[in-house]
Amino acid sequence: MTWSVWRLSPFITSVFFVLGVFTLYQVFFDSLRTWFYSKDIRFNEDLINSWLGVIYMGIFIISMQLKLVNTSISWQFMNFQLIALIFCAYFLNIHVPFYYLYPLLVAYMLFNGSIGYWESWCHSVTLLSFYEVLSHIRRQQHNDHPFYIYMVSGIFFVGLLWFFMKIKFGFSWQTYYEEWLYLAIFEMLLYSYVGMILRDSNLKMRLLEFANHDSLTKTENYAAYVSEIRNLFDASFQSNLSLSMMMFDIDHFKQVNDTYGHLAGDKVLRHTADVVQTILDENDPKVKLYRTGGEEFNVIFPSYDLSATEPIVRQIFMALNHLNIDLDDKAGNSISITVSVGVSTISKEDLNPNDFYSRVDGNLYHSKKNGRKQITAK
Ligand code: GH3
Ligand code: MG
Ligand code: MG
Repeated sequence: MTWSVWRLSPFITSVFFVLGVFTLYQVFFDSLRTWFYSKDIRFNEDLINSWLGVIYMGIFIISMQLKLVNTSISWQFMNFQLIALIFCAYFLNIHVPFYYLYPLLVAYMLFNGSIGYWESWCHSVTLLSFYEVLSHIRRQQHNDHPFYIYMVSGIFFVGLLWFFMKIKFGFSWQTYYEEWLYLAIFEMLLYSYVGMILRDSNLKMRLLEFANHDSLTKTENYAAYVSEIRNLFDASFQSNLSLSMMMFDIDHFKQVNDTYGHLAGDKVLRHTADVVQTILDENDPKVKLYRTGGEEFNVIFPSYDLSATEPIVRQIFMALNHLNIDLDDKAGNSISITVSVGVSTISKEDLNPNDFYSRVDGNLYHSKKNGRKQITAK
């Protein structure tokens, strides 16, 4: 195989071309998603995926079609275009109604020089119906045989679409049946291949979530804390920014477990995390909560000095000490807790994040030693 001699049938190369186009898209979208995730930027995945997918496919279609515009073989990339349409309508979660696509199709016919042909108009209307049917099937994916419905509708519409092109360009019936068959094979490949890469990609995201989150309280875990404090510690020193941290521990939590059982203890931990997270969301989403131990939590305040943390620390302290958690048991028990808190801010003497952590921990220990249910901040 050299640059000029490529001894593979065009069908084989086109299969790899089509699969390559989807792989490249998925790799691109995955990197973007992981980047957003690492920067802790929340975004509507479905929306971004849909728009990015449509733009990506649109660029491919237009740039390929540019080579064939106004030629007698301008139908030659049609199977690729149909596969791109199937991908967008069936595999992306697009919520655009079909009639919004009319202007796009008219623009495409203008660009392609086919606006004056009745066959092209029939083709466009069939295309829109195909898009609508695919979107409908996607929304009904809970039905028993999604694959068969997807294949049957594809084969039907594609047969019709190629028929209009056969009339317009007058190519042979053999070409017509070949293209139809190729498309059916592509459609089948697309279903299994895209299904597979989507499953892989979602699994990767779930593993990433799992590695950084605590499954009980859904807050970020110790591993996430370690990597975040290292980054923030370095950034604070480089840019001379403040950085503060609060650490709290539930008082006599062992007694909760011993008295009411571990499930009750788990419920208390979930409520504790929910209450603190709600307070942080209301105040400043950049301040983040981590479950760093069994009943120990850390809150990191980027760019906060000690006095700036005070209102939020107080709010958390008050809320937790007034928490009443119903156990919904027969005896109608409810649990209240108290917490001890340590707070501190980075100082020039801190050589690494552990020096900073030790001071916060020392302050927490001071609160414990002095009778619990109190804040030590220095
Ligand atoms: P102190 O006021 O000194 O902090 O006393 P304490 O009882 O809270 O502290 P201690 O370290 O003796 O006990 C912590 C308890 O937290 C022991 C452990 O069983 C419990 N614990 C840790 N993780 C979990 C968890 O995920 N679920 C439940 N239910 N309990 C947990
Ligand atoms: Mg405790
Ligand atoms: Mg503890």
